[in-house]
Amino acid sequence: MKNTSRRPLVVGNWKMHGSLESVTALLNFLRHELQNNTVVDVAVCAPFVHLPLCRELLTISGIHWGAQNVSEHAQGAYTGEIAASMLVDLGCRYVLVGHSERRALFGEMDAVVVVKIKQVLKAGLTPILCVGETLAERECNATEAVIARQLHAVLNALTTEQLAELVVAYEPVWAIGTGKTASPEQAQAVHAYIRQLWTAKEPEQAEQLIVLYGGSVKADNARLLFTQPDVDGGLVGGAALDQNQFCAIVNAAEQAWNH
Ligand code: PEP
Repeated sequence: MKNTSRRPLVVGNWKMHGSLESVTALLNFLRHELQNNTVVDVAVCAPFVHLPLCRELLTISGIHWGAQNVSEHAQGAYTGEIAASMLVDLGCRYVLVGHSERRALFGEMDAVVVVKIKQVLKAGLTPILCVGETLAERECNATEAVIARQLHAVLNALTTEQLAELVVAYEPVWAIGTGKTASPEQAQAVHAYIRQLWTAKEPEQAEQLIVLYGGSVKADNARLLFTQPDVDGGLVGGAALDQNQFCAIVNAAEQAWNH
């Protein structure tokens, strides 16, 4: 049994996958399969166009939904962008910010991540701040320096009240979509470091901060990861598209907390 007052959180990141048909089937399965879950907070971060379907099928299910990105602007002439207020209209609860794919493929720098988080908070939504090092950075022992840089950008820019609303996801880039998971010990070490950085800035909050692990979480490795003292759940990519895997990961979180 985990010795923590934090509730576990398992979030699916569907990335750019799915059709109206496949998403309908997946959501119907999840709301039926997870209807008795009271222990684990569960959410899916869907492509923008599937968010209305999430609202239609998940309202009153206990499962939350959210987006994978948001504009850094509140509104205006920004063709193709989606504002945080639009996500509120669709009943979103969470927004991923600073996912490594956005940082690496779309050039999102720490400064942009900060602006997006502020927009998300202003709209009353919960940002899930993603941080993590690349393989090259790990191999030259720069993991802590990278995590510190990514976190300090946010810790130094937000107020205590704003920081209290954040969820952090530690996602080593080398483990995302590669099938290579961080060992439970590797994950725990970085999660403890994240909590330590938080303690230095916000000592009152650090104990309550939810820190998720992401990077090839699957049904068969989730439980060991989730039993680590500072791992409060998972951000799940590939396995979130598989209805049985995702439910098994939620169950692994429940077991890690209850047994
Ligand atoms: C992710 O996209 O955030 C992720 C962790 O992906 P995967 O589980 O597929 O590694």
